[in-house]
Parts: sequence; C-alpha cells; structure tokens
Amino acid sequence: MQTQTLERMESDVRTYSRSFPVVFTKAVNARLTDEDGREYIDFLAGAGTLNYGHNNPELKQALVEYLSSDGIIHGLDFWTAAKRDYLETLEEVILKPRGLDYKIHLPGPTGTNAVEAAIRLARVAKGRHNIVSFTNGFHGVTMGALATTGNRKFREATGGVPTVGAAFVPFDGYLGDGTDTLDYFEKLLGDKSGGLDLPAAVIVETVQGEGGINVASTQWLQRLEGICRANDILLIIDDIQAGCGRTGKFFSFEHAGITPDIVTNSKSLSGLGLPFAHVLMRPELDKWKPGQYNGTFRGFNLAFVTAATAMRKYWSDDTFERDVQRKAGIVEERFTQLAGWISDKGHPASERGRGLMRGIDVGNGELADKITSKAFENGLVIETSGQDGEVVKCLCPLTIPDEDLLEGLDILERSIHEVLA
Ligand SMILES: *Cc1c(COP(=O)(O)O)cnc(C)c1O
Repeated sequence: MQTQTLERMESDVRTYSRSFPVVFTKAVNARLTDEDGREYIDFLAGAGTLNYGHNNPELKQALVEYLSSDGIIHGLDFWTAAKRDYLETLEEVILKPRGLDYKIHLPGPTGTNAVEAAIRLARVAKGRHNIVSFTNGFHGVTMGALATTGNRKFREATGGVPTVGAAFVPFDGYLGDGTDTLDYFEKLLGDKSGGLDLPAAVIVETVQGEGGINVASTQWLQRLEGICRANDILLIIDDIQAGCGRTGKFFSFEHAGITPDIVTNSKSLSGLGLPFAHVLMRPELDKWKPGQYNGTFRGFNLAFVTAATAMRKYWSDDTFERDVQRKAGIVEERFTQLAGWISDKGHPASERGRGLMRGIDVGNGELADKITSKAFENGLVIETSGQDGEVVKCLCPLTIPDEDLLEGLDILERSIHEVLA
C-alpha cells in the first residue's frame, strides 16, 4: 500500500488515518475494504454519520437517478423540487407522527454550522448572549460552537483568541451518582450573586458522543426542560450524533418525552454520508430577517434526495427502530460481559450507552488505545472517546447484519483478551 503521498502532503491535523493507517478503497454497509483487499468491520461508521451503512443501495439508487435526470445539484437556497420533497417527507414521516411542529433552517452542511446557527438564533430570539452548555459537551469547532465545547484540546487551538458567550455547568453524573447536578444549575439561576448571566439557551446532548458516551437520564432531561421553561431559557438539543436513530428513536430526546425549542441534526441526516445539516425551531422563534444568516451551501440538493429516501424507507413505521433496539440489546449484553472481564483483570471497567451508541469505559486512554489498535490488527475499525479517550465506543451502522455485528463483537473480545493476556 502506497502512503507516501498522503503522509507528505496532508496536514498534520489529520487524525483517523493515524489510528487506521491503510488506504481504503471501498465500503458496503458495515464492511470497509483497503487497497490490499483486506476487509474490516466498521464500528466507527463515520463517527455516527453512516447509520444506514456505507453505500446504502436504495439511497445510492435514488441519488444516481436524480443525477441521471439532471436534477439541480447546487442552487444556493433556491426552491427546488428536491427541497420540497425533503420538507414534506420530514413533516409527514418524522415531525407529525411525533406531534412536533418546527420550522426548518438550512445552514451550511456541517454539524458545527448547525450549532452556530442554533445558538445565534437563540441569542437573536431572546436578546441575551449567554449559552449554557455542559461539561464534556462537544458541539463543533468553529468559534461560537467551540465556546460550548468542553474539550481543552480544541479550546486551546484558537491561537490564544478566547471563546466567549458560554458558561459550563455539570452534566448528569458529573459529580457522582448521589448528586443531581441540576440542583447546582437551578441554584445558580435563582442566585442574584451566582455569577451566571441569564442564558438565552441551554445546549445539550442527551448522550454525549465525543465526551465519552455519557448518558443523561430521562428524569434529568425532563427536569432540565422544566428548569428552562420556568426561567424563559430555550432548550437546544444537539442531536447531531445521537439523532437519526442512533439511540433507537429518530430523535434521541424522544426517550425522555421532552420537546426542545431548537434541534440540530447533521451526521446521519443525509443517510448516505453526504454533508448536510438542519436546525429545527419552534415556529415563533424564527426571528431571522431574510438573508441575515447565509452561506453558499445552504441545503444540499443531493442530500435532500437521500435524506428523504432514508426517512421514507426506515421511519415510515417502527420496524427499523425495533430492530435497532434489538441489536442494542446484543451489544449491551456483550459489553457488560466484557466490562466484567476487564474488571476481573484488575482494570475497573463499565458499560454504558443508549441504543446503538454504546461504550466500555476501561478507565484510561492508554488501555483503550491498545484495545482499539489490536482490534484494527484483527480487522475491526473502532474508536475511543472521552476526555482521555478512555471509552471504547461502538457506533456501528444501525443496518449492520447480525453476522457482522457478532463477528465485530468477537473480534473486540479477542482483542481485549490479547491485550490483557
Ligand atoms: C460531530 C458533532 C458536531 C460537529 O459536527 P461537524 O460536522 O464535525 O462540524 C456537533 N455536535 C455533536 C454532538 C457532534 O457529535
């Protein structure tokens, strides 16, 4: 495999190619193939971007047909038939059955674009600057979104320019089991000397992806919603990683039965891995003036086509979501066993997650890295997350065939045994 050009020319900022230093050529569903013809099972799936697998045949077919018919590819924010179909499908298949009424803002195509737009909108709508985010939260790396991102590695990479406009409070579980961290947030809000500027909004992930698969309990999320309502604060759910079925429901907040004021989706939204993001907002929050927030790539017509196809195929009834929950049960059971086995070897470990967003916290990043490197040698692409990379996480495609899921879990188990032999 020839990697000299890649190593010489690509900036040192590259990351995943360090963990998986091979040249990939093809991928179908949960399997990747490298240039030497070696196959890998994919438990990373674009960090949650390929919930419907690589090259999903129906999504690809819809895209090929659209391209062959000279469908509009780029049109700024023109009205197109593809956009109309996307909006209608979103309304009929996703929003209405869930009793949700949102207007849709199509910002630039990445997650951080959606977060920037969401927090900007919250500020415009409320006329306040402060956004409260949570410890270990990850919301993207452009300046506004970065201000709400906890990870020091990203925060330090601004050349010394401070990030502004956000304040952190502890996420669920941050202070250990016996403490409800919202006691602290609620107390601050009610304290005229607490030092917290009344926020325009709170931004939160229901399950923190990059932060280490930290799961907010449904009660905590419900209480957070109540605190926001009581204090005239908007609730933004960043569902960029946990959304589109990852936790077993289309929106991750459905488990808690809450209704956010603003929602961000990206990653798996296009379904095929095309760059795409949207912001959902309660209609009365749409305080934008025409053109006040813009961008050249506002809504990507190819992604409208694949996203609408994915919604119709997977979300028209509950077959898919039940299947995700069934597979999640398999992963949860195996991860619990593995965590027990690792603990028995003297490395206290624990399993956590919701749906197919699951991880094993092995206590330190070094051990987690050894496990994921060994897994890669054994044919499994799997990554870590958490502040020290201490959580080995499974984000396999939701469409993964059972054989591949079990084989991936077997490889992980064998790799853990080899590392801790
Ligand atoms: C990935 C991610 C983002 C940022 O998305 P990009 O497309 O990388 O800008 C924001 N929030 C969450 C929860 C994410 O997982």
